[in-house]
Amino acid sequence: MLVSDDLLLYYQRCDRRAFLDVFGDSRQRDPLDNFLLKLRQDSRSHRQEVLSQYHYQRPDWSGDDWYGGTQATLALMEQGVEAIYRGVLSASWLPGIDLVSKPDLFVRHPGSSRFGDWLYIPYDIRFGKRPKLDYQIVGAFHGLVLSQQQEVWPSTTWLVLRGRKPHAVDFLKRVPEMQQLLHDCIVSLRQPQAPELFLSRQKCNLCHWYNFCHQAAESQRHLSLIPGITPNRYGQLQGMGITTLATLANTPRSQLKMVFGAEAGNQLAQQALASHDHQALLRDGALAHLLQSPRNRWLAAPQRAIEIHFDIEAEPDLDLDFLLGALVVDHRQNRQTYYGFMAKSPEEEARVWQQFLELMESYPNALIFHFCDYEVKTIQRLAKLYKTPKHRHQALINRCVDIHWWVTQSTVLPVESYALKPIARWLGFNWRNPKANGAQCICWYNQWLAEQDPTYLEAILEYNEDDCRATYTLKTWLSQFLQPYYQDAIEPDTHKLINY
Ligand code: SF4
Repeated sequence: MLVSDDLLLYYQRCDRRAFLDVFGDSRQRDPLDNFLLKLRQDSRSHRQEVLSQYHYQRPDWSGDDWYGGTQATLALMEQGVEAIYRGVLSASWLPGIDLVSKPDLFVRHPGSSRFGDWLYIPYDIRFGKRPKLDYQIVGAFHGLVLSQQQEVWPSTTWLVLRGRKPHAVDFLKRVPEMQQLLHDCIVSLRQPQAPELFLSRQKCNLCHWYNFCHQAAESQRHLSLIPGITPNRYGQLQGMGITTLATLANTPRSQLKMVFGAEAGNQLAQQALASHDHQALLRDGALAHLLQSPRNRWLAAPQRAIEIHFDIEAEPDLDLDFLLGALVVDHRQNRQTYYGFMAKSPEEEARVWQQFLELMESYPNALIFHFCDYEVKTIQRLAKLYKTPKHRHQALINRCVDIHWWVTQSTVLPVESYALKPIARWLGFNWRNPKANGAQCICWYNQWLAEQDPTYLEAILEYNEDDCRATYTLKTWLSQFLQPYYQDAIEPDTHKLINY
Protein backbone atom coordinates (compact mmCIF):
# COMPACT_ATOMS: atom_id res chain seq x y z
CA MET A 1 0.00 0.00 0.00
CA LEU A 2 1.22 3.50 -0.83
CA VAL A 3 0.64 6.38 1.56
CA SER A 4 1.36 9.66 -0.17
CA ASP A 5 1.57 13.22 1.13
CA ASP A 6 -1.76 14.00 -0.59
CA LEU A 7 -3.44 11.03 1.04
CA LEU A 8 -2.24 12.15 4.48
CA LEU A 9 -3.44 15.69 3.76
CA TYR A 10 -6.95 14.49 2.88
CA TYR A 11 -7.02 11.95 5.72
CA GLN A 12 -6.69 14.86 8.14
CA ARG A 13 -9.74 16.50 6.59
CA CYS A 14 -11.83 13.33 6.32
CA ASP A 15 -10.86 9.70 6.95
CA ARG A 16 -13.60 8.56 4.58
CA ARG A 17 -12.18 10.63 1.74
CA ALA A 18 -8.74 9.03 2.13
CA PHE A 19 -10.35 5.57 2.09
CA LEU A 20 -12.45 6.34 -0.99
CA ASP A 21 -9.47 7.88 -2.80
CA VAL A 22 -7.67 4.54 -2.44
CA PHE A 23 -10.51 2.02 -2.74
CA GLY A 24 -13.51 3.92 -4.18
CA ASP A 25 -14.85 3.57 -7.69
CA SER A 26 -13.35 6.58 -9.48
CA ARG A 27 -16.36 6.71 -11.84
CA GLN A 28 -18.43 7.85 -8.86
CA ARG A 29 -16.34 10.97 -8.30
CA ASP A 30 -17.81 14.35 -9.17
CA PRO A 31 -16.27 15.95 -12.26
CA LEU A 32 -14.11 19.01 -11.68
CA ASP A 33 -16.32 22.09 -11.72
CA ASN A 34 -15.24 25.50 -12.99
CA PHE A 35 -14.65 26.81 -9.49
CA LEU A 36 -12.18 24.04 -8.68
CA LEU A 37 -10.55 24.53 -12.05
CA LYS A 38 -10.12 28.22 -11.27
CA LEU A 39 -8.61 27.41 -7.88
CA ARG A 40 -6.16 25.08 -9.59
CA GLN A 41 -5.26 27.69 -12.17
CA ASP A 42 -4.73 30.35 -9.50
CA SER A 43 -2.65 27.93 -7.50
CA ARG A 44 -0.58 27.06 -10.58
CA SER A 45 0.08 30.76 -11.31
CA HIS A 46 1.22 31.29 -7.73
CA ARG A 47 3.51 28.25 -8.00
CA GLN A 48 5.03 29.51 -11.26
CA GLU A 49 5.66 32.90 -9.69
CA VAL A 50 7.54 31.34 -6.78
CA LEU A 51 9.43 28.90 -9.01
CA SER A 52 10.71 31.73 -11.18
CA GLN A 53 12.99 32.66 -8.26
CA TYR A 54 14.81 29.30 -8.37
CA HIS A 55 17.24 27.73 -10.75
CA TYR A 56 15.86 24.20 -10.65
CA GLN A 57 16.10 20.91 -12.49
CA ARG A 58 13.39 18.34 -13.09
CA PRO A 59 13.99 14.62 -12.69
CA ASP A 60 12.91 12.48 -15.61
CA TRP A 61 9.93 10.41 -14.48
CA SER A 62 6.20 10.23 -15.11
CA GLY A 63 2.90 8.68 -14.06
CA ASP A 64 2.91 6.32 -11.09
CA ASP A 65 6.49 5.18 -11.42
CA TRP A 66 7.48 6.21 -7.88
CA TYR A 67 10.47 3.91 -7.87
CA GLY A 68 11.90 5.32 -11.12
CA GLY A 69 11.07 8.86 -9.91
CA THR A 70 12.91 8.26 -6.65
CA GLN A 71 16.00 7.02 -8.49
CA ALA A 72 15.95 10.05 -10.82
CA THR A 73 15.50 12.47 -7.89
CA LEU A 74 18.28 10.83 -5.88
CA ALA A 75 20.59 11.06 -8.90
CA LEU A 76 20.08 14.86 -8.94
CA MET A 77 20.59 15.06 -5.17
CA GLU A 78 23.84 13.13 -5.45
CA GLN A 79 25.02 15.62 -8.07
CA GLY A 80 24.18 18.39 -5.59
CA VAL A 81 21.96 20.44 -7.93
CA GLU A 82 20.70 23.75 -6.50
CA ALA A 83 16.97 22.91 -6.53
CA ILE A 84 14.74 20.07 -7.76
CA TYR A 85 11.20 20.71 -9.00
CA ARG A 86 8.69 17.85 -9.30
CA GLY A 87 11.00 15.47 -7.47
CA VAL A 88 9.60 12.44 -5.69
CA LEU A 89 10.98 10.29 -2.92
CA SER A 90 9.61 7.01 -1.66
CA ALA A 91 10.65 4.95 1.31
CA SER A 92 9.43 1.71 2.77
CA TRP A 93 7.88 2.17 6.19
CA LEU A 94 6.15 -0.94 7.51
CA PRO A 95 5.85 -4.33 5.79
CA GLY A 96 3.69 -3.71 2.73
CA ILE A 97 3.57 0.09 3.30
CA ASP A 98 5.54 2.59 1.24
CA LEU A 99 5.56 6.34 1.80
CA VAL A 100 5.64 8.74 -1.13
CA SER A 101 6.59 12.41 -0.78
CA LYS A 102 6.32 15.01 -3.55
CA PRO A 103 7.06 18.50 -2.22
CA ASP A 104 7.10 21.25 -4.81
CA LEU A 105 10.82 21.74 -4.39
CA PHE A 106 13.87 20.20 -2.75
CA VAL A 107 16.39 22.99 -2.20
CA ARG A 108 20.08 22.39 -1.49
CA HIS A 109 21.44 23.84 1.80
CA PRO A 110 24.83 23.63 3.53
CA GLY A 111 25.12 20.72 5.98
CA SER A 112 26.12 17.12 6.07
CA SER A 113 24.28 14.15 4.59
CA ARG A 114 25.08 10.92 2.81
CA PHE A 115 25.44 13.00 -0.36
CA GLY A 116 28.39 15.04 1.01
CA ASP A 117 28.61 18.45 2.65
CA TRP A 118 25.13 19.44 1.60
CA LEU A 119 21.60 18.33 2.32
CA TYR A 120 18.14 19.07 0.96
CA ILE A 121 15.18 20.83 2.52
CA PRO A 122 11.61 20.39 1.18
CA TYR A 123 9.53 23.43 0.15
CA ASP A 124 5.76 23.29 -0.35
CA ILE A 125 4.21 26.16 -2.31
CA ARG A 126 0.67 26.73 -1.00
CA PHE A 127 -1.97 29.01 -2.45
CA GLY A 128 -3.41 29.64 1.02
CA LYS A 129 -2.35 32.55 3.19
CA ARG A 130 -2.16 30.68 6.50
CA PRO A 131 0.23 27.90 7.55
CA LYS A 132 -2.67 25.54 8.28
CA LEU A 133 -2.00 22.63 10.57
CA ASP A 134 -2.69 20.05 7.85
CA TYR A 135 -0.03 21.68 5.64
CA GLN A 136 2.44 21.58 8.53
CA ILE A 137 1.75 17.88 9.14
CA VAL A 138 2.43 17.17 5.48
CA GLY A 139 5.65 19.21 5.81
CA ALA A 140 6.72 16.93 8.68
CA PHE A 141 5.87 13.92 6.48
CA HIS A 142 8.20 15.25 3.73
CA GLY A 143 10.90 15.54 6.40
CA LEU A 144 10.40 11.91 7.44
CA VAL A 145 10.65 10.49 3.91
CA LEU A 146 13.63 12.69 3.03
CA SER A 147 15.43 11.64 6.22
CA GLN A 148 15.21 8.00 5.10
CA GLN A 149 17.02 8.86 1.87
CA GLN A 150 19.61 11.47 2.82
CA GLU A 151 20.18 9.81 6.22
CA VAL A 152 19.72 13.02 8.14
CA TRP A 153 16.62 15.00 9.03
CA PRO A 154 16.26 18.37 7.33
CA SER A 155 15.94 21.21 9.86
CA THR A 156 12.40 22.01 8.65
CA THR A 157 10.02 22.13 5.69
CA TRP A 158 9.28 25.60 4.35
CA LEU A 159 5.70 26.52 3.48
CA VAL A 160 5.74 29.24 0.82
CA LEU A 161 2.40 30.99 1.26
CA ARG A 162 0.53 33.54 -0.83
CA GLY A 163 1.36 37.13 0.08
CA ARG A 164 3.04 36.07 3.36
CA LYS A 165 6.53 35.32 4.54
CA PRO A 166 7.52 31.63 4.20
CA HIS A 167 6.69 29.61 7.31
CA ALA A 168 9.14 27.09 8.83
CA VAL A 169 7.40 23.97 10.12
CA ASP A 170 8.30 23.27 13.75
CA PHE A 171 9.41 19.62 13.54
CA LEU A 172 9.63 19.24 17.33
CA LYS A 173 5.90 19.77 17.55
CA ARG A 174 4.70 18.41 14.22
CA VAL A 175 6.71 15.20 13.77
CA PRO A 176 5.10 13.32 16.72
CA GLU A 177 1.64 14.51 15.60
CA MET A 178 2.38 13.41 12.03
CA GLN A 179 3.54 9.96 13.19
CA GLN A 180 0.33 9.44 15.14
CA LEU A 181 -1.79 10.55 12.17
CA LEU A 182 0.19 8.34 9.80
CA HIS A 183 -0.44 5.37 12.08
CA ASP A 184 -4.18 6.18 12.32
CA CYS A 185 -4.39 6.63 8.56
CA ILE A 186 -2.82 3.21 7.91
CA VAL A 187 -5.17 1.57 10.44
CA SER A 188 -8.15 3.23 8.75
CA LEU A 189 -7.02 2.09 5.29
CA ARG A 190 -6.72 -1.48 6.54
CA GLN A 191 -10.39 -1.63 7.54
CA PRO A 192 -12.67 -3.64 5.24
CA GLN A 193 -15.21 -0.80 4.90
CA ALA A 194 -15.15 2.94 4.33
CA PRO A 195 -15.43 5.01 7.55
CA GLU A 196 -18.90 6.27 8.34
CA LEU A 197 -19.85 9.44 6.50
CA PHE A 198 -20.58 12.71 8.19
CA LEU A 199 -21.54 15.51 5.86
CA SER A 200 -20.58 19.02 6.81
CA ARG A 201 -20.44 22.06 4.57
CA GLN A 202 -17.00 23.15 5.68
CA LYS A 203 -15.40 19.73 5.20
CA CYS A 204 -17.28 18.43 2.17
CA ASN A 205 -17.56 21.64 0.19
CA LEU A 206 -14.82 20.92 -2.33
CA CYS A 207 -14.70 17.12 -2.05
CA HIS A 208 -15.07 15.10 -5.25
CA TRP A 209 -17.05 12.41 -3.39
CA TYR A 210 -19.75 14.87 -2.33
CA ASN A 211 -22.60 13.57 -4.50
CA PHE A 212 -21.68 9.97 -3.75
CA CYS A 213 -21.75 10.63 0.00
CA HIS A 214 -24.83 12.84 -0.20
CA GLN A 215 -26.83 10.12 -1.95
CA ALA A 216 -25.76 7.62 0.72
CA ALA A 217 -26.70 10.10 3.48
CA GLU A 218 -30.10 10.77 1.94
CA SER A 219 -30.91 7.09 1.58
CA GLN A 220 -30.09 6.58 5.28
CA ARG A 221 -31.71 9.88 6.35
CA HIS A 222 -28.40 10.38 8.09
CA LEU A 223 -28.37 12.67 11.10
CA SER A 224 -25.58 14.82 9.64
CA LEU A 225 -28.20 16.16 7.20
CA ILE A 226 -30.05 17.76 10.10
CA PRO A 227 -29.00 21.40 10.74
CA GLY A 228 -27.42 21.86 14.16
CA ILE A 229 -26.00 18.33 14.41
CA THR A 230 -22.23 18.80 14.58
CA PRO A 231 -19.75 15.90 14.76
CA ASN A 232 -19.53 16.42 18.55
CA ARG A 233 -23.27 16.40 19.01
CA TYR A 234 -23.53 13.38 16.72
CA GLY A 235 -21.11 11.52 19.01
CA GLN A 236 -23.19 12.50 22.05
CA LEU A 237 -26.40 11.34 20.35
CA GLN A 238 -24.80 8.00 19.50
CA GLY A 239 -23.82 7.73 23.16
CA MET A 240 -27.52 8.15 24.03
CA GLY A 241 -28.42 5.38 21.56
CA ILE A 242 -29.96 7.88 19.12
CA THR A 243 -28.85 7.01 15.60
CA THR A 244 -31.91 7.73 13.44
CA LEU A 245 -34.05 10.77 12.75
CA ALA A 246 -37.17 8.94 13.94
CA THR A 247 -35.58 8.15 17.31
CA LEU A 248 -34.35 11.71 17.68
CA ALA A 249 -37.79 13.14 16.85
CA ASN A 250 -39.36 10.89 19.51
CA THR A 251 -36.80 11.57 22.22
CA PRO A 252 -38.29 13.58 25.11
CA ARG A 253 -37.16 17.18 24.93
CA SER A 254 -36.17 17.12 28.60
CA GLN A 255 -33.59 14.43 27.83
CA LEU A 256 -32.05 16.48 25.01
CA LYS A 257 -32.00 19.59 27.21
CA MET A 258 -30.19 17.68 29.94
CA VAL A 259 -27.40 16.64 27.57
CA PHE A 260 -27.10 19.71 25.31
CA GLY A 261 -28.38 22.49 27.56
CA ALA A 262 -31.77 24.21 27.35
CA GLU A 263 -31.26 26.25 24.20
CA ALA A 264 -29.45 23.66 22.05
CA GLY A 265 -31.71 20.87 23.33
CA ASN A 266 -34.83 22.80 22.34
CA GLN A 267 -33.40 23.62 18.95
CA LEU A 268 -32.44 20.01 18.26
CA ALA A 269 -35.86 18.76 19.29
CA GLN A 270 -37.68 21.24 17.08
CA GLN A 271 -35.39 20.67 14.11
CA ALA A 272 -35.79 16.91 14.39
CA LEU A 273 -39.59 17.28 14.41
CA ALA A 274 -39.61 19.61 11.40
CA SER A 275 -37.26 17.36 9.43
CA HIS A 276 -39.02 14.15 10.38
CA ASP A 277 -42.54 15.45 9.64
CA HIS A 278 -41.49 17.57 6.62
CA GLN A 279 -43.18 20.66 7.99
CA ALA A 280 -42.32 24.21 8.95
CA LEU A 281 -42.62 25.17 12.63
CA LEU A 282 -42.66 28.47 14.47
CA ARG A 283 -39.35 28.63 16.32
CA ASP A 284 -39.63 28.61 20.12
CA GLY A 285 -39.40 32.16 21.38
CA ALA A 286 -40.07 33.61 17.94
CA LEU A 287 -43.05 35.67 19.06
CA ALA A 288 -40.86 37.67 21.41
CA HIS A 289 -38.58 38.46 18.48
CA LEU A 290 -41.51 39.41 16.28
CA LEU A 291 -42.83 41.87 18.80
CA GLN A 292 -39.58 43.30 20.04
CA SER A 293 -37.58 43.67 16.87
CA PRO A 294 -37.53 47.19 15.46
CA ARG A 295 -37.27 45.44 12.11
CA ASN A 296 -40.81 44.07 12.15
CA ARG A 297 -42.41 46.83 10.07
CA TRP A 298 -42.49 44.63 6.97
CA LEU A 299 -44.76 42.24 8.87
CA ALA A 300 -47.02 45.07 9.94
CA ALA A 301 -47.62 45.92 6.29
CA PRO A 302 -46.55 42.78 4.44
CA GLN A 303 -47.75 43.72 0.97
CA ARG A 304 -46.77 47.24 -0.08
CA ALA A 305 -47.38 48.75 -3.49
CA ILE A 306 -43.77 48.18 -4.43
CA GLU A 307 -41.09 45.96 -2.97
CA ILE A 308 -37.51 45.31 -4.08
CA HIS A 309 -35.43 42.12 -3.87
CA PHE A 310 -31.69 42.74 -3.96
CA ASP A 311 -28.75 40.39 -4.57
CA ILE A 312 -25.05 40.91 -5.35
CA GLU A 313 -22.38 38.96 -7.21
CA ALA A 314 -18.80 39.67 -6.14
CA GLU A 315 -15.22 38.67 -6.95
CA PRO A 316 -13.39 38.69 -3.58
CA ASP A 317 -9.92 38.36 -5.14
CA LEU A 318 -10.50 41.64 -7.00
CA ASP A 319 -12.33 43.20 -4.04
CA LEU A 320 -15.09 43.92 -6.54
CA ASP A 321 -18.90 43.84 -6.40
CA PHE A 322 -19.45 43.44 -10.10
CA LEU A 323 -23.23 42.92 -10.23
CA LEU A 324 -25.91 44.70 -8.21
CA GLY A 325 -29.19 43.00 -9.09
CA ALA A 326 -32.68 44.17 -8.10
CA LEU A 327 -36.12 42.73 -8.78
CA VAL A 328 -38.75 45.48 -8.51
CA VAL A 329 -42.17 44.02 -7.78
CA ASP A 330 -45.01 46.44 -8.47
CA HIS A 331 -48.19 44.96 -7.01
CA ARG A 332 -50.43 47.77 -8.32
CA GLN A 333 -49.40 47.16 -11.90
CA ASN A 334 -48.90 43.43 -11.32
CA ARG A 335 -45.46 43.80 -12.88
CA GLN A 336 -42.01 42.48 -12.00
CA THR A 337 -38.89 44.09 -13.50
CA TYR A 338 -35.35 42.87 -13.00
CA TYR A 339 -32.42 45.33 -13.16
CA GLY A 340 -28.88 43.96 -13.38
CA PHE A 341 -26.24 46.66 -12.93
CA MET A 342 -23.12 44.96 -14.23
CA ALA A 343 -19.58 46.32 -14.06
CA LYS A 344 -18.02 44.98 -17.24
CA SER A 345 -14.62 45.88 -15.84
CA PRO A 346 -13.47 46.67 -12.28
CA GLU A 347 -13.33 50.38 -13.22
CA GLU A 348 -17.11 50.38 -13.80
CA GLU A 349 -18.00 49.58 -10.19
CA ALA A 350 -18.48 53.27 -9.31
CA ARG A 351 -20.87 53.76 -12.25
CA VAL A 352 -23.06 50.75 -11.40
CA TRP A 353 -23.20 51.84 -7.75
CA GLN A 354 -24.58 55.22 -8.84
CA GLN A 355 -27.12 53.56 -11.15
CA PHE A 356 -28.25 51.24 -8.39
CA LEU A 357 -28.53 54.11 -5.94
CA GLU A 358 -30.69 56.10 -8.37
CA LEU A 359 -33.01 53.14 -8.94
CA MET A 360 -33.44 52.62 -5.19
CA GLU A 361 -34.14 56.32 -4.69
CA SER A 362 -36.79 56.29 -7.39
CA TYR A 363 -38.85 54.02 -5.07
CA PRO A 364 -38.28 55.84 -1.76
CA ASN A 365 -40.96 53.91 0.17
CA ALA A 366 -40.17 50.42 -1.06
CA LEU A 367 -38.57 47.99 1.36
CA ILE A 368 -35.42 46.27 0.10
CA PHE A 369 -35.37 42.55 0.86
CA HIS A 370 -32.11 40.59 0.74
CA PHE A 371 -30.75 37.28 2.06
CA CYS A 372 -27.92 37.57 4.67
CA ASP A 373 -26.03 40.68 5.63
CA TYR A 374 -23.63 40.89 2.68
CA GLU A 375 -25.88 43.34 0.83
CA VAL A 376 -25.97 45.82 3.74
CA LYS A 377 -22.21 45.54 4.23
CA THR A 378 -21.72 46.18 0.52
CA ILE A 379 -23.91 49.28 0.59
CA GLN A 380 -21.68 50.55 3.42
CA ARG A 381 -18.48 49.60 1.58
CA LEU A 382 -19.49 51.19 -1.73
CA ALA A 383 -20.83 54.33 -0.04
CA LYS A 384 -17.52 54.80 1.77
CA LEU A 385 -15.41 54.00 -1.28
CA TYR A 386 -17.31 56.35 -3.59
CA LYS A 387 -17.97 59.03 -0.97
CA THR A 388 -21.76 58.83 -1.05
CA PRO A 389 -23.33 61.29 1.42
CA LYS A 390 -24.43 59.57 4.60
CA HIS A 391 -28.09 60.55 4.33
CA ARG A 392 -28.31 58.76 0.97
CA HIS A 393 -26.83 55.40 1.90
CA GLN A 394 -28.34 55.41 5.40
CA ALA A 395 -31.80 55.86 3.88
CA LEU A 396 -31.19 52.70 1.88
CA ILE A 397 -29.94 50.73 4.85
CA ASN A 398 -33.00 51.77 6.86
CA ARG A 399 -35.18 50.13 4.23
CA CYS A 400 -33.25 46.83 4.15
CA VAL A 401 -34.87 43.66 5.54
CA ASP A 402 -32.65 40.61 5.95
CA ILE A 403 -34.91 37.67 5.15
CA HIS A 404 -32.26 35.18 6.29
CA TRP A 405 -32.36 36.71 9.78
CA TRP A 406 -36.14 36.45 9.83
CA VAL A 407 -36.19 32.85 8.62
CA THR A 408 -33.60 31.66 11.11
CA GLN A 409 -35.07 33.61 14.03
CA SER A 410 -38.68 32.68 13.47
CA THR A 411 -38.95 29.29 11.79
CA VAL A 412 -37.66 25.74 11.86
CA LEU A 413 -37.73 24.21 8.39
CA PRO A 414 -37.30 20.70 6.97
CA VAL A 415 -34.13 21.63 5.07
CA GLU A 416 -30.50 20.55 5.19
CA SER A 417 -29.24 24.08 5.64
CA TYR A 418 -30.64 27.57 6.00
CA ALA A 419 -28.97 28.82 2.82
CA LEU A 420 -31.14 30.37 0.12
CA LYS A 421 -30.97 27.43 -2.29
CA PRO A 422 -32.22 24.62 -0.04
CA ILE A 423 -34.97 26.77 1.43
CA ALA A 424 -36.22 28.10 -1.92
CA ARG A 425 -36.05 24.63 -3.45
CA TRP A 426 -38.11 23.27 -0.57
CA LEU A 427 -40.69 25.93 -1.50
CA GLY A 428 -40.69 24.64 -5.08
CA PHE A 429 -38.53 27.36 -6.62
CA ASN A 430 -36.06 26.18 -9.29
CA TRP A 431 -33.06 28.00 -10.72
CA ARG A 432 -33.07 27.98 -14.54
CA ASN A 433 -29.50 26.69 -14.49
CA PRO A 434 -29.43 24.13 -11.65
CA LYS A 435 -25.61 24.01 -11.66
CA ALA A 436 -25.08 27.75 -11.28
CA ASN A 437 -23.94 29.18 -7.96
CA GLY A 438 -22.00 32.14 -6.58
CA ALA A 439 -18.61 30.44 -7.00
CA GLN A 440 -19.48 29.57 -10.58
CA CYS A 441 -20.35 33.24 -11.22
CA ILE A 442 -16.85 34.23 -10.06
CA CYS A 443 -15.40 31.84 -12.66
CA TRP A 444 -17.73 33.15 -15.36
CA TYR A 445 -16.80 36.72 -14.54
CA ASN A 446 -13.08 35.96 -14.77
CA GLN A 447 -13.69 34.17 -18.06
CA TRP A 448 -15.54 37.24 -19.30
CA LEU A 449 -12.56 39.46 -18.31
CA ALA A 450 -10.18 37.12 -20.14
CA GLU A 451 -12.22 36.31 -23.26
CA GLN A 452 -14.84 39.11 -23.50
CA ASP A 453 -17.48 36.52 -24.44
CA PRO A 454 -20.89 38.04 -23.47
CA THR A 455 -22.48 34.62 -22.86
CA TYR A 456 -20.65 34.57 -19.51
CA LEU A 457 -22.32 37.84 -18.48
CA GLU A 458 -25.72 36.55 -19.63
CA ALA A 459 -25.30 33.42 -17.49
CA ILE A 460 -24.41 35.56 -14.44
CA LEU A 461 -27.40 37.87 -14.97
CA GLU A 462 -29.76 34.90 -15.27
CA TYR A 463 -28.41 33.40 -12.04
CA ASN A 464 -28.60 36.69 -10.17
CA GLU A 465 -32.16 37.32 -11.34
CA ASP A 466 -33.13 33.86 -10.12
CA ASP A 467 -31.54 34.61 -6.73
CA CYS A 468 -33.66 37.78 -6.50
CA ARG A 469 -36.78 35.81 -7.48
CA ALA A 470 -35.96 33.09 -4.94
CA THR A 471 -35.71 35.78 -2.23
CA TYR A 472 -39.12 37.10 -3.34
CA THR A 473 -40.62 33.58 -3.19
CA LEU A 474 -39.23 33.08 0.30
CA LYS A 475 -40.34 36.48 1.57
CA THR A 476 -43.87 35.88 0.26
CA TRP A 477 -44.06 32.47 1.93
CA LEU A 478 -42.59 33.77 5.19
CA SER A 479 -44.99 36.67 5.51
CA GLN A 480 -47.94 34.32 4.92
CA PHE A 481 -46.56 31.83 7.45
CA LEU A 482 -45.94 34.44 10.14
CA GLN A 483 -49.02 36.62 9.67
CA PRO A 484 -51.48 34.58 11.76
CA TYR A 485 -49.04 34.34 14.68
CA TYR A 486 -48.21 38.02 14.38
CA GLN A 487 -51.82 39.16 14.24
CA ASP A 488 -52.74 36.93 17.20
CA ALA A 489 -49.88 38.21 19.25
CA ILE A 490 -50.21 41.97 18.92
CA GLU A 491 -52.69 44.23 20.62
CA PRO A 492 -54.58 46.59 18.28
CA ASP A 493 -52.90 49.62 19.89
CA THR A 494 -49.45 48.12 19.55
CA HIS A 495 -50.24 47.40 15.93
CA LYS A 496 -50.85 51.08 15.34
CA LEU A 497 -47.59 52.05 16.98
CA ILE A 498 -45.36 49.73 14.99
CA ASN A 499 -47.13 50.24 11.69
CA TYR A 500 -44.74 51.89 9.27
S1 SF4 B 1 -18.09 14.21 0.86
FE1 SF4 B 1 -17.53 14.70 2.96
S2 SF4 B 1 -17.87 12.79 4.08
FE2 SF4 B 1 -17.77 12.25 1.91
S3 SF4 B 1 -15.65 11.74 1.55
FE3 SF4 B 1 -15.89 13.86 1.03
S4 SF4 B 1 -15.32 15.00 2.86
FE4 SF4 B 1 -15.70 12.87 3.46
